[in-house]
Amino acid sequence: MNQTRSATGISVTFHGAAQTVTGSMHLLETPDARILLDCGLMLGQREEVHRRNSQFPFAPSWIDAVLLSHAHIDHCGNLPNLVRQGFTGPIYCTPATRDLMGIMLTDSAKIQAEEAALAPRVDECSTALLYTGKEVEQTLRQCVSVPYGMSQDVAEGVRVQFHDAGHLLGSAIIAVACNFHGATRTITFTGDLGRDNLHFLGKPAPLPPSDMVICESTYGGRLHQTPAALMKRLHEVVKQTIERGGKVLIPAFSLGRAQIVVHYLREAMQQGRLPLAPVFVDSPLATRIAQVYRRHPGCLAAGVLDTMNDGEAVRYVSDFQESRDLSFRKGPCILVASGGMCEAGRILHHLEKNIDDPRNSVVLVSYQAPGSLGHRMLERGPRVRVRRKMCNKWADIIDLNGFSGHADQQDLMRALRPLAASQPRVRLVHGDLSQAWVLAAVLRGEGFEDVAIPQREDSASLA
Ligand SMILES: [Zn+2]
Repeated sequence: MNQTRSATGISVTFHGAAQTVTGSMHLLETPDARILLDCGLMLGQREEVHRRNSQFPFAPSWIDAVLLSHAHIDHCGNLPNLVRQGFTGPIYCTPATRDLMGIMLTDSAKIQAEEAALAPRVDECSTALLYTGKEVEQTLRQCVSVPYGMSQDVAEGVRVQFHDAGHLLGSAIIAVACNFHGATRTITFTGDLGRDNLHFLGKPAPLPPSDMVICESTYGGRLHQTPAALMKRLHEVVKQTIERGGKVLIPAFSLGRAQIVVHYLREAMQQGRLPLAPVFVDSPLATRIAQVYRRHPGCLAAGVLDTMNDGEAVRYVSDFQESRDLSFRKGPCILVASGGMCEAGRILHHLEKNIDDPRNSVVLVSYQAPGSLGHRMLERGPRVRVRRKMCNKWADIIDLNGFSGHADQQDLMRALRPLAASQPRVRLVHGDLSQAWVLAAVLRGEGFEDVAIPQREDSASLA
């Protein structure tokens, strides 16, 4: 730990999401300030992951302020632990991020408590809670909302502006200006960048001119299918399923993916491109999140609020018994349920009861990690185990993993290319090496001279 010395220049140390995609956390140091960019949870079950989430590589009390890009748990999910361990400073984020974060952190504390209660107590470390609802409440009290475009002083000699990243409601590109011996040094942190042509949130704003860009690279090596191609396929599946009287089951992560898919389906129904069918969103979390989306219409693309407010067309289900009853509901419907990879969440009981009905379809709209139930459903073979029950796989299983809220290589290059002439340092984070390597090569090919993919604990200096 180096919390006793003052930095002589400006530097960024990459403490998380370095050559991987979770646990976003970077430390900006100037001679006068220590600023944390994001404070996310690393995701995974391993002991090493728990240890890294538990222990910070610096003293939390030494941090002056946190700048938060957005409310996904791998970006904000360790903030209450930072607070528990002594951080008392302000957490700057957009108003929508603050609202979403309240829901996500409360849910994260609840899941930790449930897992700890279930886990055998052979190993104290693996069952220890990172935080509880009490620390979540304190974290929210430390939040300071800063709207897009407003300049905010966040520490001595450090000023910040948020710009729309178009990735999630309230998501921000963070532009930091540091005063250094009378000159200004600028650093831009993209957070997670959105897609240019996914008409749901605002478009990602242009990246401001900067001395250093810390850029995500999740899909730096690939191109997404276009929304038009995805929708064509989704329409075919939904239409066929509804016409044969079946259910369309869509497992989706409660924050982000569920809202995009429901919007596209309702828009198509409103415009007569899909037959009308009841849409159920079965997730208490998604129900609360939908209310936040309605509170921040300025963050949505034109017309999106209309599809969210079309009366009873979309029914949000919180009650568990109502969710159980939905599994046995007669007649065609679309059921979006929590559990993106089908590993947990309400999608499990719907799959158990419905996967052996050939009238039904399961549409997988998220990435399915090897070993997950979603991945096993896509493998060849007539049967699949859902929880403890071996089920006949007679429903259609469709892979439509293209609704990602992340920029692909084309989007990333469109964002970065205008900066090439000014030769900023580019540090690629939040991407597996295979993706970051490809993006780094493309950037060098377009004239960026200083591009690197930092390892965890690497630093980059500016002055
Ligand atoms: Zn994200």
